[in-house]
Amino acid sequence: MLKPDAVERGLRREIFKRVRSAGFTVVEEAQIEMLPESAKDLYSIHRGKPFYDGLIQFIASGPVVVSILEKNNAVLDLRKLMGATDPRQAEDGTIRGDLKEENIFSPMGTMKNLVHGSDSIESANREIPIFFKA
Ligand code: UDP
Ligand code: MG
Repeated sequence: MLKPDAVERGLRREIFKRVRSAGFTVVEEAQIEMLPESAKDLYSIHRGKPFYDGLIQFIASGPVVVSILEKNNAVLDLRKLMGATDPRQAEDGTIRGDLKEENIFSPMGTMKNLVHGSDSIESANREIPIFFKA
């Protein structure tokens, strides 16, 4: 998923170019707006954490682009392509590292990290119906 910061900054084409170059097939791609209920469902494992409320508000704050990607070893390879959760620690050559917002001192630094990727096949199977029903 391209988070609202990525869509707002016009990075859809650039990010999907990187995804395709890395060997992924884009099976589905759609711009939607996540309802807070869907965002809560997506991030249910983070409920109660200090960043949770802000994260839900952020994800539901504007359009996102959801997609289904296909590739051998897709989960791990996409996580590598995305880079570290905190963009300030994301390596050069990764989406989060190369495309991060310039102001690295923003308290929103970790939240606005451009992209979400499922962390396992099980998570992908749980998340796809949330995205394509939202
Ligand atoms: N997040 C945050 N502050 C934190 C940790 C996470 O705002 O300290 C946000 C960030 O947008 C992240 C999302 O919560 O992408 C989910 O966190 P997770 O640890 O699952 O990171 P990811 O799997 O996205 O790398
Ligand atoms: Mg995660």
